[in-house]
Amino acid sequence: MASGTEYERVFQTIEERSPDKAAVIRQYQRVARAFNEMLEAIDAKTDGAAWKKDGVGSCRVSPHLFETYLDGVVTGDIERLWDAKDADNPDLDESDNRRCQFHRIGTGCILGDLKSPRCLSHIDGNNVTEIETKLGTKLPEIKQPLLTIQLGGMDVTGEGCVLHPDLNDKLVEDTVQSATEFTAKVRELPTIS
Ligand code: SF4
Repeated sequence: MASGTEYERVFQTIEERSPDKAAVIRQYQRVARAFNEMLEAIDAKTDGAAWKKDGVGSCRVSPHLFETYLDGVVTGDIERLWDAKDADNPDLDESDNRRCQFHRIGTGCILGDLKSPRCLSHIDGNNVTEIETKLGTKLPEIKQPLLTIQLGGMDVTGEGCVLHPDLNDKLVEDTVQSATEFTAKVRELPTIS
């Protein structure tokens, strides 16, 4: 892989040190990407809420400072990738210094498919109620699949530290499918003017 950005360089070092950890991070990213797309679709089809200001993720506190529910074998590596994205996306607008370090004015959150489970699941309650009422169905569970994936398929009762990312495969596929199906239903709703 080319090492053009700090993100690519850090990911490459993770891959070289542990292909299994890199595989777990890619699984996490697939699921987080599907949730991100779902949240952006919800954002476009629901009425105003605080999180809409300046893009999805107009937050005040860095996830380095709160309980993120990153809690597994790749926690440190994901946090290193956050900081690599931060380095690749310098914050050039100093007009509001009360933002999360990963929020960019005019863009929103730069972490994308590496957002923490806490960030992804922190949806404004009004949005959740509104979208569930409109669709007549519950939002898919966000936090729990991401927590499970982070365990790396380890058998915690047996051979402790050996990762088995392949054991995450079904959970990843099922979660991406349910998020994608929910997103498709949201996109069929009329757009808020
Ligand atoms: S990482 Fe992104 S979603 Fe999480 S607090 Fe910062 S700006 Fe908000």
